[in-house]
This record gives sequence, C-alpha cells and structure tokens, in this order.
Amino acid sequence: MKPAPFEYFAPETAEEALALLAEYGMDARPLAGGQSLVPLINMRMAQPAVLVDLNHCCELAYLREEEKMLVSGPMTRQRELEISNTVRAHCPLIAEAVPHMGHATIRNRGTVGGSLSHADPSAELPGVAVALDAEMVADGPNGRRTVPATEFFLAELTTALEPDEVLREIRFPKAPSGSRAAFAEVGSHFGGLALVGVAARVDLDSAGRCAAVALAAIGAGERPARLSSAETVLMGEVLGEQVIAEASEAAVIDVDPLADLHATAHWRRRAVVAMTARALREIADGGEGVAEVRR
Ligand SMILES: Cc1cc2nc3c(=O)[nH]c(=O)nc-3n(C[C@H](O)[C@H](O)[C@H](O)COP(=O)(O)OP(=O)(O)OC[C@H]3O[C@@H](n4cnc5c(N)ncnc54)[C@H](O)[C@@H]3O)c2cc1C
Repeated sequence: MKPAPFEYFAPETAEEALALLAEYGMDARPLAGGQSLVPLINMRMAQPAVLVDLNHCCELAYLREEEKMLVSGPMTRQRELEISNTVRAHCPLIAEAVPHMGHATIRNRGTVGGSLSHADPSAELPGVAVALDAEMVADGPNGRRTVPATEFFLAELTTALEPDEVLREIRFPKAPSGSRAAFAEVGSHFGGLALVGVAARVDLDSAGRCAAVALAAIGAGERPARLSSAETVLMGEVLGEQVIAEASEAAVIDVDPLADLHATAHWRRRAVVAMTARALREIADGGEGVAEVRR
C-alpha cells in the first residue's frame, strides 16, 4: 500500500519542530527513526496530515553523563545505547535490554525517544525506563515538564505526552557500584517483539543481600508493570533459589495481561513468573548475561 498524502517538514532546530507541532496540533506527528511510524503510515493505520521530521535537529541526539544521571536525547539511536561504554558502566540494565530490540539494522535507525513515545507494551526500553525510575522530560508550547516513567506510559501506544509536546530528554539514574542487571525475555522468533520480558536490577550489599531491587515486566498488560510485590519479597534477602521462587510467584500480583493472537493471559502470567526467575537467577549467578557495575 502507499501512504495517504501528507505534508512534510524537516525543521533543523527543536524550537522549529515544536512550533510546527503547535501549529498543526492533532494533525501532526513527529517522525524519528521511522521504524514504527513509517510501516503504520504505509499500511494507512496512521494517516497524519503533517509529518515533522526530527532527523535534522542535531541538538536532539546526545548521550551525556551527569553526577547522578545518564541523560539521553530523544534522537539518540538505540544502537548508540547498545555500544556505549558509559551506558554499560552506569546503566547496565539498558545495555542488557537494547540488544533484544529487533535487529541491528532497526536499532541503527530507531531512536530512544521513538521507542519510548511509541509505547508498545512489548517494547524493551519502556520496561527499562519503568524499572529504573527514569524521568521523561517533555517540551511543549506551555513549557517543559518532567514525568516519572511510571506515570508516562498510560496504555497501549498511549503516553502522557500531549499532541503538541515532544519527548525532549530521558534521564536515567545511574546504578551504584555492586549493582547487577539482567533482562530476560521470551518471543516467538529472533528479532521480533517480546511476548513477555522482565527487566531486573538488584543492588547487593557487602553481605550479598538485596539492598535495592527494581523489576518491571513487558508484554503483560497494556503498559510496562513495576513488579513491586516481587521486589518486597526480595528486599534484605540473599538471592537463593527459594526466595527467587517466592518472588517470581509474587510477580503475577502486579500484572494484568490480556489474551491476544499470540498468547493467552494465563500463558503470559506464567511467562512473567518464568522470566522473573530467569533474570534473578542470572543475577544471582553473576555469570554471562549479567552486567555488574564495578567502580
Ligand atoms: C521488524 C521490526 C522489529 C522490531 N522489533 C522490536 C523489538 O523487538 N523491540 C522494540 O522495542 N522495538 C522493536 N521494533 C520497533 C523499533 O524499536 C522502533 O524503532 C521504535 O519502536 C520506534 O522508534 P523510532 O525512532 O523508529 O520512532 P518512529 O517510528 O519514528 O516513531 C514512533 C512514534 O513515536 C512518536 N515520536 C517519535 N519521537 C518522538 C518524540 N521525540 N516525541 C514525541 N513523539 C515522538 C512518533 O510520532 C510515532 O508516533 C521493531 C521494528 C521493526 C520494524
């Protein structure tokens, strides 16, 4: 199919892009890497009258380290997160999760802001943002505001962004020394979207006990779910097989999966248990598939 006709703008600054989005309102959509939006437009499942291409706004692509935060621009390519030593050193969960996103060719083009704004419930990066308590910075005609990741994803393909706002920056808290991260997912084929995945970060104290735990599930509801009940089970415990089993079973308390063409709700619930256990076991073993912050 061919896309429906649309008007195309290629602003060179974020300010120009915002002005266009404000002018055209609901008729306009930002275009980032195009890896989700272009197929939707080609299939006429999305028919924006105006496309505001962000690819020429160089100021929107960056990766910056602050004292407590790792900060990404929205137009930073997913591949850049994947290969960055700074990301692996300070937010190992991101480094573990990004390689699961489609294929390298998609990550070369797909952006951080595009994935988060698209808000596919099976996408890895939104789950990571929720697990890490990332801050989502939105810019619009009424100024700048910061939305916690836990409040940013509202439903399938729906975020807290207004039509005239752009996701302007994403701020990920850095992990402390000793923090371990793992990402476990199950899918139907290599390079496809996850059916269910679990993002896990555990900070261990000197006695090997869980001093901080962050878990989030994707593909188990209309938005990424923080697995607070499982986190509570783990706090203060050494990561042994019994506590991993208890925490994994508790993970289902916080998910509300729907049945669809790919899996039943029951299957997705059990997959959350299995993926939580897998991620936690990997963290306990500290072997391959686990990134640990060492400073
Ligand atoms: C074959 C295939 C397999 C894939 N597999 C995976 C996978 O396993 N996991 C995964 O997570 N993703 C997967 N994807 C999707 C991919 O990660 C996309 O890159 C991502 O979802 C969208 O990023 P983008 O930069 O391409 O955004 P675009 O497609 O350009 O935009 C997506 C949406 O976000 C909006 N948008 C973009 N930037 C902004 C902004 N700064 N502010 C406000 N709104 C904005 C657009 O208007 C649009 O609605 C796959 C894609 C393909 C084609």
